[in-house]
Amino acid sequence: MSDKIVKSDAEWRTSLTPEQYRVTRQGGTERPFSGAHYLRTEQGDYTCIGCGALLFHSDTKFDAGCGWPSFWEEAVPGAIVRIADYSHGMVRTEVRCARCEAHLGHVFPDGPEPTGERYCINSVAIDFKSID
Ligand SMILES: [Zn+2]
Repeated sequence: MSDKIVKSDAEWRTSLTPEQYRVTRQGGTERPFSGAHYLRTEQGDYTCIGCGALLFHSDTKFDAGCGWPSFWEEAVPGAIVRIADYSHGMVRTEVRCARCEAHLGHVFPDGPEPTGERYCINSVAIDFKSID
């Protein structure tokens, strides 16, 4: 895509908080039940903390009980890329922002209808903008 955001490691370090950097650029995971958006129920849009790309709408958010914000569908087709993740002795599917390659979390095939998918997302990787 032509609108890809590419920054050096040093640029990411200065534009993100240490926790945002650890999660989105180093594939980290925030502690469950700790994030700002886990229990959020307001109507609005969730965007990438790294580049502002629209990722999820609040009407696809649900409480999966796992301690991280969960969504059953991305807001824009192609906004998120999937990458096979074989770390920690598991086979999982990592999800990243298509525009800036920020690590967001993982997607699992055990979500609610209509997609049957569960995007398990770190709060620190996303920003929230309410719709009035
Ligand atoms: Zn991004």
